[in-house]
Amino acid sequence: MTDDIADAVEAELVALSAALTEPADRECLRCYLLRMISEFGCTGTHRWTMRWREVRAPRATGLLGKLAELGGGCDCEVLLNVFPQYPLTTRLLPCAGQPLSGSAVPCDLRILRRTA
Ligand SMILES: [Zn+2]
Ligand SMILES: [Zn+2]
Repeated sequence: MTDDIADAVEAELVALSAALTEPADRECLRCYLLRMISEFGCTGTHRWTMRWREVRAPRATGLLGKLAELGGGCDCEVLLNVFPQYPLTTRLLPCAGQPLSGSAVPCDLRILRRTA
């Protein structure tokens, strides 16, 4: 009985964390990485970039190599060196939407800022 409950709770946690780390519909790579790193931190790998690519840009097979070339050797370096422009804010902004489906080009948050 207790085992069943433990199993059920564990299954729920796994489903919950899968939902939490799922890139949102049209969420761009930059906003996704910001969200994941602020929640879970960088693991020194492209863990979150790969997760995003699987869902949002499955055909961008050269993405990791390109990001590494631009100085993004891991998830936090991608943010630091590849997407350094982010509005000055104390909280995360909602993603303005992936401009091109399947592309790692970040959304334009300046639009959001003007209207916010
Ligand atoms: Zn890192
Ligand atoms: Zn975005």
